[in-house]
Amino acid sequence: MIRAFVALPLPDEIRSRLSVAQFLLPLPRKVPPENFHITLAFLGEVAVPALQEVDLALGALRLPRLALSLQGLGLFGGARPRSFHASVVPDPDLARMQARIARACAMAGAPAEARRFVPHVTLGRFRADLADAMRLERSAAEGAGFAAGPWTADRFVLYRSERGGDGPRYDELASYPLTA
Ligand code: ATP
Ligand code: MG
Repeated sequence: MIRAFVALPLPDEIRSRLSVAQFLLPLPRKVPPENFHITLAFLGEVAVPALQEVDLALGALRLPRLALSLQGLGLFGGARPRSFHASVVPDPDLARMQARIARACAMAGAPAEARRFVPHVTLGRFRADLADAMRLERSAAEGAGFAAGPWTADRFVLYRSERGGDGPRYDELASYPLTA
């Protein structure tokens, strides 16, 4: 079984903008900049034959390039935040792309986790207590002015995720072009 997800990688320039913003945040566990991405579909543990079907299905999709931007910082997890992120500016083409990719994965036999799609780049994960949560909320509010982009997303990627001692490692299994 392979732990897999589909995501948009980020250009170097956007990654460095994010790492500067991240540096200023009181995050106990920072996502390393080479791991920054926008998840489109989290597939979880997938058997190799199903993953080959997913690869075929994703390779058959014809999806347009997108102009994407980041705006603002936020927390997921409500009163007990568990991750800190930069928000992607909502885009109907991105939502359509995500839905088509999720459908393709499901039809290939690897349904994506059915979480509502809120496009974001995770900058840090944690188990926050109340004091941390308030500090992080303040940082998110202060980061409302954070903005990066636009950039052109010209490919999406099927990643393998492997848990390691100091955080996960992501490897590109396949890359699919977005065409104009
Ligand atoms: P770790 O779980 O080891 O702290 P991670 O969350 O980066 O690290 P994975 O759990 O393999 O690594 O997740 C890969 C990507 O899929 C991440 O962007 C993660 O936020 C996202 N993801 C994980 N689980 C889900 C889920 N249930 N629904 C939607 N997205 C998910
Ligand atoms: Mg995880």
